[in-house]
Formats: sequence, C-alpha cells, structure tokens
Amino acid sequence: MKPIDFQYYRPTTSAEAARLLNSLGDDVKVIAGGQSLLPIMNMRLAEPAHLVDITGIAELRQTTESHTGATYGATTTHMMFEHQLVPDVTAGLLSQAARGIGYPAIRNRGTVGGSLAHSDSSAEWPTVMSAVGATVHALSVRGVRRIPVTELLLGFFATALEPDELIVGVEVPRMAANTRWGMYKMARKPGEFAESLAVAQLEVDTDGSMTDARLWLGAAKDTPVRLACTEQLVKDFTLGDLSPTDLVDSVAVDLSTEPGGSDAHARHALQLHVVAVHRALLAVEEAPTQ
Ligand SMILES: Cc1cc2nc3c(=O)[nH]c(=O)nc-3n(C[C@H](O)[C@H](O)[C@H](O)COP(=O)(O)OP(=O)(O)OC[C@H]3O[C@@H](n4cnc5c(N)ncnc54)[C@H](O)[C@@H]3O)c2cc1C
Repeated sequence: MKPIDFQYYRPTTSAEAARLLNSLGDDVKVIAGGQSLLPIMNMRLAEPAHLVDITGIAELRQTTESHTGATYGATTTHMMFEHQLVPDVTAGLLSQAARGIGYPAIRNRGTVGGSLAHSDSSAEWPTVMSAVGATVHALSVRGVRRIPVTELLLGFFATALEPDELIVGVEVPRMAANTRWGMYKMARKPGEFAESLAVAQLEVDTDGSMTDARLWLGAAKDTPVRLACTEQLVKDFTLGDLSPTDLVDSVAVDLSTEPGGSDAHARHALQLHVVAVHRALLAVEEAPTQ
C-alpha cells in the first residue's frame, strides 16, 4: 500500500519548522528518518495531511559538548552514535545502544529524536536515554521546553509533546568517572526489536566495591521501567556470586508480576527479563571505562 496524498514541507531552520507546526493545525506530522512513520503511513495507520521534513535543518544535526555533557541535535542518526561521529559522553554506552538498532539501512536514516518521539519501549533510545538521565529540548512558537525523557515517555506511542512541539535536541549528562555500565538486548535475531533490554549502571569505589546501582528495563511495559527493588538487592551482592535465580522475586516486584502466576506468557517474559538484567550486570565487567 501507499500513503494518502499529503502536503510536503522542508524547512531549513527549526524556527521555521515550529511556525509550520503551529500554523498547520492538528493534522500535521514531523518526519525525520521516516523509519517508523513511513511504514505506518504506508499501512494507512497514520494519514497526516501535512508532513514537515526536518532533515534539511542543519542545526538539528549538530552536537554541542561541554564539561557536563553533550546535547545532540534531534536528527543525529543512530549510525552517527554507532561510529562515534559525535562525542560519546557515556563511555561507549550510546555507541553500543545504537549498534543494536535494526540494521545498517535503518541506522543510516533513523534518528534519536524520532525514536524518542515515537515512544516504543522495545526500542533502544527510550530505555537508554531514561537510564542516563537525558532531557529533550522541545521547541514551539512559545519557546523551548526542557523535558526529562522519563517525563516525555507517557506510554506506547504516547509522549508529553504538544502537537506543535518539535524535539530539537537531546541533552545527555556526562557519565561520572566512577560509573561502570553494562547493557543486554534480548531479541530473536539481530536487527529485531528487543524482547527485553536491560541497562545497568554501577557506581564503584576506588577499591572496586559497588556503592550504588541503577537498573533500567525496556520492552517490559509501555514505558521503560526503573528496577528500584532489584537495585537494592544487587547492592548486597558481589556480582560474580549473583545468579538469575537470585533476581526473580525482585524483578517480579519491580514489574508488578507474579513469578508463579498462571499466565504462561507472563512467566516466560519474566524469565527473559531476569536473564537480560543478569547479563547486563555481567557485561559491566567488559564495557569500556572513561
Ligand atoms: C525494520 C525495522 C527495524 C527496526 N529495528 C529497531 C530496533 O531494533 N531498535 C530500535 O530502537 N528501533 C528500531 N527501528 C526503528 C528505527 O530506529 C526508527 O528510526 C526510529 O524508531 C524512528 O526514528 P526516525 O527518525 O526514523 O523517525 P520517523 O519515522 O521520521 O518519526 C517517528 C515518529 O516521531 C515523530 N518525530 C520524528 N522526529 C521528531 C522530532 N524531532 N520531534 C517531534 N516528533 C518527531 C514523527 O512525527 C513520528 O510520529 C526499526 C525500524 C524498522 C523499519
């Protein structure tokens, strides 16, 4: 199938894009890489009357870096993160996340802003950007609004963006020197969306002992989930002594599910998530440090 007819606009500044979004009413969509929107339009699940293509806006592809972190332009592609064509302020986590997205054709066109605006919790950026404490900059004719990614993502395909707001940048804090990270994507085959996606960040002391743990999980609920109960449990363990079985009850609490429930699908999903979290924790040892 092909999409219905639409009016196409290609602004060259983000201010012009914001004006267009404001003036064209509710039946308008931003298009960036088109890797999620175009399939949906081809299936006629979305039928916008107007498309505002933001890939001609040079400022949206720029990165600014400071000692506290970096702000990536919204149309920075997955490939640019993957090959570190932009600075990675997370000691390689962003690059590793991008490498797992789809396959090269998707990564060449798909953008970080598009992925966050799409809000699919089995995609890489929603979980990873939640885990690193990123904030999006959303522009409209009213000015720029800063929205933490954890507040941007409201549900499956639902965000806190107003219809006339455009993500222009994604601000990522610099990862602390004593933070170690690990990530694990569980998918049926390379190039597929995650069935489970775990990100672990551990704070370590100079003697190598763990002082804090932050764990995030994607593809489990409509939005990424912070595993607060499992974080507490993990802190009491030496990582090498931890087995997946140790994690079952706490991950179940974090996901509000029953380990021994009657729903076989839910039990299977819990097993996948537990193994993904365990592997993300083990991957901490192998990830690069700053
Ligand atoms: C075969 C296939 C496999 C894939 N596998 C994966 C995978 O494994 N992991 C993964 O994470 N993703 C995967 N994707 C999705 C891919 O990463 C998309 O690139 C991404 O989800 C959307 O980015 P985009 O730039 O293409 O956005 P688009 O498709 O252009 O837009 C998506 C949505 O975001 C809105 N939007 C876009 N940019 C902005 C902006 N700056 N401000 C406000 N709204 C905006 C659009 O209006 C639209 O609603 C896959 C896609 C395909 C087709």
